[in-house]
Amino acid sequence: MNGVNIAFCDGMLLQLDMSTSSPTIVSKQGIGTATIDFYNYFSRYRSSPKEEFLNLLSRPDKEVLEIISEQSLANQFFLDYASSRQGISVKNQQNATKEALIYTCNLIQSAFSDLNAVFSECSNVNKTDMPQSDKALNLFKFDKFTASFILLDNKIVLVYAVNSLHEYLKLDFYHANLSPDSVKHISICPYCGKAFRMSQRNNLYCSKACKDKCIRANNKKSPYYSKYRYLQQYHNRQLNRLRSKMADSLPEMQQLQNAYDAWNEWARTEYEQATRVYNFGQQKEQESVENFGERLKKEWKALIKSCS
Ligand SMILES: [Zn+2]
Repeated sequence: MNGVNIAFCDGMLLQLDMSTSSPTIVSKQGIGTATIDFYNYFSRYRSSPKEEFLNLLSRPDKEVLEIISEQSLANQFFLDYASSRQGISVKNQQNATKEALIYTCNLIQSAFSDLNAVFSECSNVNKTDMPQSDKALNLFKFDKFTASFILLDNKIVLVYAVNSLHEYLKLDFYHANLSPDSVKHISICPYCGKAFRMSQRNNLYCSKACKDKCIRANNKKSPYYSKYRYLQQYHNRQLNRLRSKMADSLPEMQQLQNAYDAWNEWARTEYEQATRVYNFGQQKEQESVENFGERLKKEWKALIKSCS
């Protein structure tokens, strides 16, 4: 196993050639790009979109070889491993390939399910709950990495000697989501399931198209949805306005935040309850959307009043 040397510098992931006395950059890409590419590429090979895990080894070798060869990072580690095994203890080329295939598939599968676990954990997190980075950190417990400092273009950078695909992705994900640099976080789109980079403008869905489609789908499920979402956003803006007015009083700000959290929790339960009643088709008990909205507003006003 020759391994790969990588460093993170100015928002970029650098692959370095360390075999000579002065290290050189072999390739360069944005931090997080490898993780997004890897995840989106292999999620196509789940047996179903709902399936959390990959099972590449259940496919014929020839097919798995093709799948791996089209994903540059996986292929790099596959070839690296295969070449390191040649002529050692393995009798022939075929055995070496088979061994490298099994080894690489296992790494791909474990990296994929780790990413999946982090993504699903993060998407369940309420915004006001503990920060996403803490959750991700718990799941992505750091292994021991071999690293050393080198001088590169007059800068001191930390170089990791990475021995597996799994390590490579862990480091990339870590730097994209947890490092204090202002690199944009990676998240998963709740509508299409693709990994993407969050920005101020899209912080939940990967695109406007997915956002619109998701809202339409929810509207079909419940007539209360758009009212509920509207009030949620409206009250959130109100909360921010009120908070900025009392920036000098922390206890008051906290009180407001608590009121919003309480309302949010309550409104969600009300929304779900109203939707359940609607879906059961109990026509007589069905609440009008207007009444539903009024109830939500009234509760909000009462909670806010108790703060002042
Ligand atoms: Zn999407």
